[in-house]
Amino acid sequence: MQSEAKSEATSRDCGDCTLCCKVMAIEALGKPANAWCAHCQPKHGCSIYADRPAECRAFRCLWLVNGLLDDQWKPAKAKFVLTTSDDGIEVRCDPGFPDAWRKAPYQSEIREWAMSGEEHDVTVLIINGPRIILVTRERDFDLGHVGPDHRIVRELEGTRVVNATVVRASDLAKASDLDQE
Ligand code: SF4
Ligand code: SF4
Repeated sequence: MQSEAKSEATSRDCGDCTLCCKVMAIEALGKPANAWCAHCQPKHGCSIYADRPAECRAFRCLWLVNGLLDDQWKPAKAKFVLTTSDDGIEVRCDPGFPDAWRKAPYQSEIREWAMSGEEHDVTVLIINGPRIILVTRERDFDLGHVGPDHRIVRELEGTRVVNATVVRASDLAKASDLDQE
């Protein structure tokens, strides 16, 4: 999902990067995550740029908008796309390079984000297809396949994450109802 050529916060443009057109799902096109968009010309751009869907127009990865991330973090080089969610930071891996985030300088920096994030209830997730890894101050929790009807539940001691599990959203809602009775 190649974004607009210029971002507001930096003078960067996507250049030869088209990785979001592979890793992101595009609802308007029925395009699943982790498959090239039929309109993408990898490393060149979008063949329907003027008519691309609104979600493509709106998308900006973190590297594009955050000047604190240097060119090592450009998705085409890093082999992952950084995005944000309501919960925190997401590292969306190119399925061809599922362990790229573990390489220097990425893994240690991602751990730093997790460490500072814990103070503010911000999570850092590695998204490798359906497999999700929660990065925390002390360790990584490999949560396996996390589907859209699943939720990640963290067990905290203070702000420190000591455990993480995956539960069905419906079970979580039932437990919440019982707590309120
Ligand atoms: S429509 Fe264009 S910008 Fe959107 S995902 Fe496909 S190639 Fe990328
Ligand atoms: S991943 Fe980021 S830099 Fe790469 S094409 Fe998408 S918005 Fe542009």
